[in-house]
Amino acid sequence: MSAPIRLAVIGMGKIAHDQHLPAIAADPDFQLVATVSRHGGPVDDLPFFPNIEALIESGLAVDAVALCTPPQVRRAIAATALAQGWHVFLEKPPGATLAEVVTLEEAARATGASLFASWHSRYAKGVEPARAWLADRRIDSATVTWREDVRVWHPGQEWIWAAGGFGVFDPGINALSIVTRILPRPFFLTEAALDVPSNRQAPIAARLQFRDTAGVAIAADFDFRQEGPQHWDIVVETDRGPLRLADGGATLTLPDGSVPTAAEGLHGEYPGLYARFAAVIRAGTSDVDVAPLRHVADAFLLGHRNLVEPFVE
Ligand code: NAP
Repeated sequence: MSAPIRLAVIGMGKIAHDQHLPAIAADPDFQLVATVSRHGGPVDDLPFFPNIEALIESGLAVDAVALCTPPQVRRAIAATALAQGWHVFLEKPPGATLAEVVTLEEAARATGASLFASWHSRYAKGVEPARAWLADRRIDSATVTWREDVRVWHPGQEWIWAAGGFGVFDPGINALSIVTRILPRPFFLTEAALDVPSNRQAPIAARLQFRDTAGVAIAADFDFRQEGPQHWDIVVETDRGPLRLADGGATLTLPDGSVPTAAEGLHGEYPGLYARFAAVIRAGTSDVDVAPLRHVADAFLLGHRNLVEPFVE
């Protein structure tokens, strides 16, 4: 087996601690060599740096970085890493704009480094079986319901409300990453309504209507104001009955009632992401699909903007 990929994790917030560190520790393809963050301190007595420039300055041997910062600052860090020839794992969304992701792809090609735009929800257990089951079905419609309580899931994350922070599209793009994977035909936005709190830049709720190239309607309802039961559900109506994906893609129920997968949550997804990152690096390629980000960008282009009551955490 080849030597482990020496990896630094940058942006030590919730997802870095909850998912990246355990997935890296369990994967023999990777060796964590440093962490980088403006605040906090070392992990397991490993070298710790306040920014990527200090990491480079240290001369530490690094092969790859995983970027877990908010999207607004990700491109500059990724470009600096690629210029070093380091492979880059981008947390989702891969950037704050489409153009910056394209420039990163070009930089990766120029340096020969691998760029991986990760979509963790695509690694939920039900997603690939759903894609396979839908491949030869007649699809009549699809409905996405992604309603969660922002106070529970994103406490103190001011960046999410700033321009480029995506608001409710931060979770909503996960749904779009699944739908773009499981439906057999491309689709496009026809209508969108965005509810934006009067004291914030990013939407707290969004309702989207799409059509696929065969005219099939796809509807999405994203809402950050959900109290009580939380919903991360996709229902696809077919000629054989409804396919249901619940728990963010982890639980698949087919029309005959069988449940071929069971919920595992995010813990089931990150090992798959790191396996993919290692495969992409070893193959000397990149994996960058901007389809989910394109739909979010289109919602900002086409959407009607409704000002709603201020959001106070
Ligand atoms: P978070 O808890 O706010 O962590 C982000 C970290 O990035 C912060 O702790 C901060 O650490 C660092 N950072 C660097 N520059 C920053 C800036 N200008 N403003 C704010 N923080 C900055 O966020 P998170 O939930 O981990 O999410 C990070 C990314 O992962 C997002 O793109 C999100 O969509 C994605 N993600 C999150 C989850 C989840 O469940 N939370 C799941 C999957 C993916 P320092 O202050 O120490 O630099």
